[in-house]
Amino acid sequence: MRSVWHPCTQMKLLEEQPPIAIASAAGPWLCDETGKRYLDGISSWWVNLFGHGHPHIKASLTDQLDRLDHVMLAGFTHAPVVELSERLALLTGLGHAFYASDGASATEIALKMSAHFWRNSGRHTKCRFVGLAGGYHGETIGALGVTDVPVFRDPYAPLLRLAATVPSPDARGARPGESAADVASRCAAALEAWFIEHGDETAALIVEPLVQCAAGMAMYDPQFLRLARELCNRYDVHLVVDEIATGFGRTGSMFAHQQAGIRPDFICLSKGLTGGTLPLSAVLTTDAVYQAFYDDAPARAFLHSHSYTGNPLACRAALATLEIFEQQDVLAGNVRRARMLSDALAPLSAHPRVRHARHLGMIWAWDVKTTLADFPQRYRQQAMARGLLLRPIGRTIYAMPPYVLDTEEVEWLAHGALAALEAALAEETAIA
Ligand SMILES: *Cc1c(COP(=O)(O)O)cnc(C)c1O
Repeated sequence: MRSVWHPCTQMKLLEEQPPIAIASAAGPWLCDETGKRYLDGISSWWVNLFGHGHPHIKASLTDQLDRLDHVMLAGFTHAPVVELSERLALLTGLGHAFYASDGASATEIALKMSAHFWRNSGRHTKCRFVGLAGGYHGETIGALGVTDVPVFRDPYAPLLRLAATVPSPDARGARPGESAADVASRCAAALEAWFIEHGDETAALIVEPLVQCAAGMAMYDPQFLRLARELCNRYDVHLVVDEIATGFGRTGSMFAHQQAGIRPDFICLSKGLTGGTLPLSAVLTTDAVYQAFYDDAPARAFLHSHSYTGNPLACRAALATLEIFEQQDVLAGNVRRARMLSDALAPLSAHPRVRHARHLGMIWAWDVKTTLADFPQRYRQQAMARGLLLRPIGRTIYAMPPYVLDTEEVEWLAHGALAALEAALAEETAIA
């Protein structure tokens, strides 16, 4: 067991709580080696959209495996990457896609591309970044620089080039009498104050649109994105929207930033991009950015690469995912599914120990008033004991299920989530 060093894990804790060996998965269910089933309430870390082993994605992958497994994307191209890029362009209005294999690499690419754009434009001073308090954009060294989560960042502080952070428009931060839109305006004013001082040195603002997921599903008003877009225009700063978690219908629209009616300069995609089957990420950008690199001089090119950039299998999985969106009107189906889930989860939302029950699209979150320092571990264990995978972030419970739950599975999730809370709180009473 020690030969595998697990992510996001204190390995010593695994002595008491060993990792669960999953043998198979089907639809929203994970099945362990003893045959016990767990409903995947967090879409396997936010990546799975249509359940595990979706027949259309499987068939596409099998077909692709028979044709072409992989070829390098420098000097070569292939049908899946071309078709995927064209489809993403149609969906987003950003016509140039650069590929990698994970979210953090997409962040790195967007940041490098933005700074290099300004350099190619003769504006060498524009190389700083600004993000939102509590923002999360991945954990490689460059991405950590724009990630404001101390537990992930602090041990590496000496290695990082820290971005500036401006206040988060998290609607929970509303002062008495303030609406969510008021919070958005107040935070936009803080952003402008920062731009007035530092706009000349700033390449890009990077944000998670509408929901700061890793911060504990902090949700905010679309007005912030509209104001941020205007400010970025006024102060010549790129707007990077990190849709790695919020993309592909998660917030109700195909992409979260679309709810604000804005067009960003960069969009980072990953996670749901392949329906949760294979690692793939993409950074989409505008003609203006693309043109600034288009030149005879190699040094003006974007000389970034990964060995598996644009892997054909991953691109086919992404194409199959987009085909499912087209063929099944997934977004409309999710409106009905979300209503069913919200109804079923109403008792949890009304629980006396719950604060700030909130919901957007296919994300639900609840802050729990508890003194248990190890609440996340206890809650997770109680949920797993009930055949339900939920992993609180601090004292925030959240559900982010795949878009396939039937009525029974909705009940399973809602019942398990509430029962796990009661059980965790009973442990608190027993300790006190
Ligand atoms: C998960 C996530 C990332 C990082 O993606 P990885 O594939 O885990 O590197 C970046 N940004 C956001 C918003 C995320 O949720």
